[in-house]
Amino acid sequence: MPRLGKMQKELLKSAQSKAATVIYPFTKEGLNIPKGLRGRWTYAEPEKCTGCKICERVCPSGAIEMIECRPEDFKTKTGFRPICHFDRCVLCNQCAESCPRNVIRLDAEFEMAFLSRDDMVIY
Ligand code: SF4
Ligand code: SF4
Repeated sequence: MPRLGKMQKELLKSAQSKAATVIYPFTKEGLNIPKGLRGRWTYAEPEKCTGCKICERVCPSGAIEMIECRPEDFKTKTGFRPICHFDRCVLCNQCAESCPRNVIRLDAEFEMAFLSRDDMVIY
């Protein structure tokens, strides 16, 4: 039986080992999403929001706007709630860290392509 050369050995090894890449974007399975990734801005727990406006005040890029609670919203104490103009957000996490009620989060959603700026207003 012929002896295998270095190259053939390497090829055999690669053929038998697990793929090093994943077939994203067809599936997210196997993606190594780092813990604590700052992704999409989320008004995660509206029922805890008091409408205090701290998040709006601390945002360095003016991305947060306080709007009057709409009929479909949870009604906060002040009657206002934050929305995010995500096109201005720099993902600094300041709003989430400053919110006394842990209402806001930058979640692990990293697919953030939008077709228009209007689509980037997150309620
Ligand atoms: S999200 Fe937090 S900081 Fe912002 S208004 Fe609500 S409670 Fe206040
Ligand atoms: S993450 Fe930073 S820039 Fe984005 S909305 Fe919060 S405070 Fe503003």
